[in-house]
Amino acid sequence: MGLYGGVETGGTWCACAIGTGPERIDRQVQFPTADVEQTLARIVDFFRVGPACEAIGIGSFGPVDLDPRSPTWGYVTTTPKPGWQHVALAPVVRARLGAPVAFEHDVAAAALGEYRWGAGRHAGALCYVTIGTGIGAGLLIDGRPWHGLIHPEVGHMRIPHDRVRDPFPGACPIHGDCWEGLACGPAIEQRWGVPANELPDRHPAWELEAEYLALGILNIVSVFSPERIVVGGGVMERGGLLAMVRVRVRELVAGYLDTPLLRGEVGSFLVEPALGDRAGVLGAIALAEMARKREPDPIDSSTRPDGS
Ligand code: ZN
Repeated sequence: MGLYGGVETGGTWCACAIGTGPERIDRQVQFPTADVEQTLARIVDFFRVGPACEAIGIGSFGPVDLDPRSPTWGYVTTTPKPGWQHVALAPVVRARLGAPVAFEHDVAAAALGEYRWGAGRHAGALCYVTIGTGIGAGLLIDGRPWHGLIHPEVGHMRIPHDRVRDPFPGACPIHGDCWEGLACGPAIEQRWGVPANELPDRHPAWELEAEYLALGILNIVSVFSPERIVVGGGVMERGGLLAMVRVRVRELVAGYLDTPLLRGEVGSFLVEPALGDRAGVLGAIALAEMARKREPDPIDSSTRPDGS
């Protein structure tokens, strides 16, 4: 059985792995996402050691160019991350390793991992949303990431912001009080002056956070109509937060969308990830496998002139 490579380049950490999925990982490594050249060199060096891969999948922080017809396909584009604007990530890895490379947004890769092996199995329309240093979501339709014009950037949607209840102007460097600007981990820290993981469970921060998360999730439900939403990321590690979000989503839906999943069964609609922080790199392996299998196989008998 062929092996595949997976790379997740996150804003803070990079992970590389070689294998076929959670049951078989032959080698893996994790290191901080440093400057571009150093990070690319570590990725390339990891795969040069082997074992050989049929293809390599990369899930990267974005925004990214996913259009295969674009001259800048595989680039990290307009990211605010210093030094990483307009970086030819996938083309450089492909050129230096001479291997087929598939490329995705990191949250779409994580969504793919959860769809294939985790909490998103059998969900024909799946959303994986991560609430952490930022907010992002991968949207899959029948196991394929939805791109559209560029790719979804749900973290930057607008949600109602009651400035009397919450005068905090928001943490997004571009929009201020978009969803990410109000509800990501750094927003919690800036609003209350304490890192989110140091706030006590009874702090009013959590009720406000649950409100913002439920508002954003209601928008995703209203626009994308997912069959399941996997909610991950560091902020969601707070015990009880997901339960609060479920209650508020039910209240906000207000019975309008007539499905048990948005009433009594909301616990099986808004679910925790099953793969934890491995979702991205495993999803990148799934991406590599999908890309490889889409290519015509040169030894496929049906392509031989004599049909043998
Ligand atoms: Zn924003």
